[in-house]
Amino acid sequence: MPETCEKNKVGVKGKPEWLKVRIKGGEAHGEVVRIVEENGLHTICESGRCPNKADCWSRKTATFMVLGEICTRTCKFCATNSGKPLPIDPAEPEKVASAVALMGLKHAVITSVTRDDLADGGAEHWRAVVEAVRAKNPNTKIEVLIPDFGGNVALLDIVLAARPDIVGHNLETVKRFTPEVRSRARYDVSLGVLRHIAASGAVAKSGLMVGLGETAEEVLTAMDDLREAGVSSITLGQYLQPTRAHLQVVEYVTPAMFEFYRQAAADRGFTRVSSGPLVRSSYMADAS
Ligand code: SF4
Repeated sequence: MPETCEKNKVGVKGKPEWLKVRIKGGEAHGEVVRIVEENGLHTICESGRCPNKADCWSRKTATFMVLGEICTRTCKFCATNSGKPLPIDPAEPEKVASAVALMGLKHAVITSVTRDDLADGGAEHWRAVVEAVRAKNPNTKIEVLIPDFGGNVALLDIVLAARPDIVGHNLETVKRFTPEVRSRARYDVSLGVLRHIAASGAVAKSGLMVGLGETAEEVLTAMDDLREAGVSSITLGQYLQPTRAHLQVVEYVTPAMFEFYRQAAADRGFTRVSSGPLVRSSYMADAS
């Protein structure tokens, strides 16, 4: 790791200029609000307090979140509500499919909360969602961002049987911080999930947050581990503290450092790389 890149990190006092987002709105944004509300859907854009929401929604795109809006895990970086989830809405697959059609999405991104309370972790519902979206939108590329299903490959296979085009599962952080940052998840289990996804023939995608105090060497090691698991698509973005109850930002990583990571990922053979302060797994997913 070149010393110059370490120097490109800055302290946490005040949000730097490159993280300030312009507020947008407009007709497309209003239409997304209406489609989401009328179909009773949830989005990670809202639940995760994503800084890109105004930007994405004004470009008439959003990431749907299925299986409810209450997660059974309590990750320290994530703003999604935790607790006892409500029953699954059996009409949700059709509602998501309709929303994708109404928004005219050529590339739909769908994620979910983690449902450790369900015997199948929600795998059958996931399959129904992907199948419904494809049936109504045969020309739309379907990208899913899935939980780890406890590393159970039989459950993963239920989702993979619906043949989503891109299957993401986020490593989120480097190995050292995984127990502190993610709830119940294990670094090696996530790599196993990704290995299984890649072996299925789907494009395997993963994402890392930086700014939690990890070293560049640790990020590069995580990249190596992801490549070894067969992951070909990667996103890297700045961690932002969603509320005071969540982990604090340790550092704001500079755009120059993100460019270093982008190049390092490309050098390692990732064919799709998205690296920047405001990059999220689903940000500009249609372009990556
Ligand atoms: S980056 Fe993803 S989660 Fe954030 S607003 Fe855009 S589509 Fe939604």
